Amino acid sequence: MQRTLSRRQFLAQSAAFAGASALRAQETTAEPIIDIHQHTDYHGRANDHMIAHQRAMGVTTTVLLPAGTYLNKPSTHNGKSNGLAAQCTGNSVCMEIAQAHPKEFFFGANEVTDEPGAVAEIEKYLKLGAVIIGEQKFAVECDSPESQKLYELAAAHNVPILLHFQHLTYNLGYDRFHAMLEKFPKTNFIGHAQTFWANIDKAHDWKNLYPKGPVTPGGLTDRYLSDYPNMFADMSAGSGLNALTRDEEHTRAFFERHQDKILYGSDCADHLGRGEGCQGAATIAAIRRLAPSKAIERKILFDNARKLLRLPV
Ligand SMILES: [Zn+2]
Ligand SMILES: [Zn+2]
Repeated sequence: MQRTLSRRQFLAQSAAFAGASALRAQETTAEPIIDIHQHTDYHGRANDHMIAHQRAMGVTTTVLLPAGTYLNKPSTHNGKSNGLAAQCTGNSVCMEIAQAHPKEFFFGANEVTDEPGAVAEIEKYLKLGAVIIGEQKFAVECDSPESQKLYELAAAHNVPILLHFQHLTYNLGYDRFHAMLEKFPKTNFIGHAQTFWANIDKAHDWKNLYPKGPVTPGGLTDRYLSDYPNMFADMSAGSGLNALTRDEEHTRAFFERHQDKILYGSDCADHLGRGEGCQGAATIAAIRRLAPSKAIERKILFDNARKLLRLPV
């Protein structure tokens, strides 16, 4: 027997259907987020956990940054640099995950800065589709001849280069870095890590890698971002989150000043992608809370990275 619906039943069913499709639409149109800083096999985390972690954070596009080759030499602190200490893997692993998940994952190209084959190795992966050089986290002067070859390479391939600045440890001589910004105007530099973020503060003590409390505006990083169109900022890691939360009034003004220069990154080794242990999720929440407008929030979480890395998303 054919079932006929009363008008009331019909309306109730339609409303339920409309509700369900609205929910689906909400899920699929959730605001996209680009994370420019994540690693494979990070502190031993399996890469399927990494993928689940990114999705749980609400990240829709992730850039995987390879470690360089594991080498025993001074520039890697005899193997304690980016790759070995955190067990991150290299170019081919990042590329394979990106190729298996088009548009959701992209990959960088990297090598130990002063390894003789560095330019050739990085160029090989740029030609295979890498969208960035990095993470450069090696014990070299930030203006070393070998570093300068990579700055030239970045400009030649129209990709940015991401540098981990850590006083006396990685990419040394941050106070001289303005000379590189001037010498390589076509190279887009993305700064990251302790010494980059501590230097938002003009009153910064270089020995303190995680300074707390009020920020005096006009620090070296603040000036580099203001004075050089080719300097950009990666919000990732504990250092980025600390810089956001130590002086919230300063952060709102900093976001306003540098709204076209700041990119979201997580550099987060957590497994869950939510909750107290997830610094990446905490940084997204802090950006949403402290951005002076919705437009600025969207620039930091999505648009700036899409433009600078020329991502087809
Ligand atoms: Zn780093
Ligand atoms: Zn990193």
